[in-house]
Amino acid sequence: MPDQSVKKREGVMAVILPSYNEELNIEKAVVGISQILEKESISYEMIFVDDGSTDGTWREILTCADAYSHVKGVHFSRNFGKEAAIMAGLAQSVNACSVVMDCDLQHPPETLVEMYRKWQDGYDVVEGVKRSRGKENVFYHTSAMLFYKLISKAVKIDMSRASDFKLMDRAVVKSLLQLPEKNAFFRALSSWVGYRTTQIEFDVQEREFGESKWSIWALMRYAITNVASFSTAPMQIVTILGVMVFAVAVIMSIQTMFNYVTGRAVAGFTTVILLLLLMGSIIMISLGIIGYYIAKIYEEVKGRPRYIISELTVSKEDEE
Ligand code: UDP
Ligand code: MG
Repeated sequence: MPDQSVKKREGVMAVILPSYNEELNIEKAVVGISQILEKESISYEMIFVDDGSTDGTWREILTCADAYSHVKGVHFSRNFGKEAAIMAGLAQSVNACSVVMDCDLQHPPETLVEMYRKWQDGYDVVEGVKRSRGKENVFYHTSAMLFYKLISKAVKIDMSRASDFKLMDRAVVKSLLQLPEKNAFFRALSSWVGYRTTQIEFDVQEREFGESKWSIWALMRYAITNVASFSTAPMQIVTILGVMVFAVAVIMSIQTMFNYVTGRAVAGFTTVILLLLLMGSIIMISLGIIGYYIAKIYEEVKGRPRYIISELTVSKEDEE
């Protein structure tokens, strides 16, 4: 527990909202969030990151930026994914603390107030954890559980209820932005950097407009990328498998030798086929996994930027 006797922190909060094809949600988010924060007299600004939307999202953001002085927008040249949008938003924020939240209002804006108060009390990271996961079908739910089991093991922090709804102090944001990796998995990285952390529970709200951007394929890709970016366990599984197969092979060879010596050698045909299949498949799987990591290394080595910004409502320079 941070020292309560010290003076409470004060500062402007940046609310970062990655948005991809959310034209119906932008203004609602602006109005909803403004109302709540103004009532609590918390100073804030909102940074919308348009992740290369193909609908009127950017137009909506521009309209809101004109109408409300505390609204800013960043526009990507194409869709770079939510993680990239979060990083871009954080890079734009010059504020004392920054919160990342979904712009479909599935993360309740009331929780922002609680998060800000916790930050004032001296916490550097305030994680929103899901009390309930909202409405999901069985398939989605089970695969999500599996994914979080894996990733929790890899990060060594329980992530089963983790979300991207998170407040971070300026120092934490700086540390995050310094990480050079391109395959940034925000949810896990923000735990990985450490700092004084606390949690706040929230209920995932129903999405009112638009639809979820995650297809089954996108989710699977997301899961694999993020597990791979945090853990080399799949490669170790291959090693373990290899050792096991080697043990079997030794036993098999002893048996074959025994058959040979006792003059019953021809019967071993089945064993040969089985071994061949087993070895072949394991070698192929191993190559696949190694290939996947090499591909990841290749991506990082290329050193391409995480995202490309094509337009900005207000540039950082203008502000300072
Ligand atoms: N999002 C994004 N880029 C993408 C996909 C999603 O910026 O490629 C944003 C989206 O606009 C929303 C948030 O990420 O603000 C969460 O997306 P969504 O609601 O589709 O996910 P779900 O709530 O279903 O997990
Ligand atoms: Mg959503």
